[in-house]
Amino acid sequence: MKTAESIFSMHNELDALMVLSEKNRLYYTGFASTFGVLIFLRDGKTHFYTDARYYEMAQQHFANSDVELHLFGANAANFDAIYQFLLDSNVSQLGFEDTELTVNEFNNYRNKFKELKFVPCGGSILEQRKIKTQDEIDLIAKAQSITDGAFKSILRFIKVGVTELDIACELEYQMRKLGGTGLAFDTIVASGINGSKPHAHPTDKKIANGDAVTMDFGARYNGYCSDMTRTVFVGKPNAEVKNIYEIVLKAQKHAIKNLACGMSGAEGHALAAEIIDANGYGEYFTHGLGHSVGLDIHEEPRLSPRYEQKLQSNVLITVEPGIYVPNVGGVRIEDLLVIKEDRVIDLTSSEKNIIIL
Ligand code: ZN
Ligand code: ZN
Repeated sequence: MKTAESIFSMHNELDALMVLSEKNRLYYTGFASTFGVLIFLRDGKTHFYTDARYYEMAQQHFANSDVELHLFGANAANFDAIYQFLLDSNVSQLGFEDTELTVNEFNNYRNKFKELKFVPCGGSILEQRKIKTQDEIDLIAKAQSITDGAFKSILRFIKVGVTELDIACELEYQMRKLGGTGLAFDTIVASGINGSKPHAHPTDKKIANGDAVTMDFGARYNGYCSDMTRTVFVGKPNAEVKNIYEIVLKAQKHAIKNLACGMSGAEGHALAAEIIDANGYGEYFTHGLGHSVGLDIHEEPRLSPRYEQKLQSNVLITVEPGIYVPNVGGVRIEDLLVIKEDRVIDLTSSEKNIIIL
């Protein structure tokens, strides 16, 4: 269970914080449910409302915590009860997730909770989520080790004649088989000239001799995401794509070696961009160098040309340079790192020197 102390200290006027979104509820409570209402009161008391589908699991989950659990009935009066509870608790300013609610949902709550003032706190919650606890880092490291395991086994599967969809399916099966509790995102597999599309959807194209195969994939473990990309060759690589591979690899290694706490997102991006530029492929590196991960696959902070925020200790960041040349192909190599005060830890263990199958 995490506290919302930092939200109350960022918003002095706040009497309570209402957390409705699935991800933020999971973030604070560690309890996964598609429905629930989490309320933090400024005095430190925490209340969690859920329905019969989750009630027994919630009783077990919160048994040794100070969280007070409430059961939602099967009628529309539940939010009236929450409103009454907030009024009885002398709440007049209620924090809510402006980043998560739809306009329609927000209007409904505002109409129902008539006497309360709504204070947008979604950005502050995302700010808190940026800096990971050791428990979160451990979950992400576990997700990444599952993803590395799937990469190891896919090398025995890829051959001339299998399709991009076959490879995506096998990777996803292996991630589940190795203990992943879900997928972090839809698997990307791009072979041959399809490799020039950074986020290509896998197709029924068959792998041909000489193809580069780019795979971008990640397991989820207890809600937390991992993310990696490798490009491997089947048969003798095309000379230009092989050269591109060496440039991307050099840029990626250089960035990982030199990234550090306190560096801005733009400075981080430049570490790889300068090498790609110097080798004549600057215009073909068309996205930011990296992003954070957590409960979402793309989180703040980012490594990109206009991102001036500095990297703090205990943030996660991917380093994923790529070069994409239309009608030729593409290469991307991506590792997932933890930034620490005095060092950078690479959670990705898979081989990245050129692999020819
Ligand atoms: Zn990725
Ligand atoms: Zn990524």
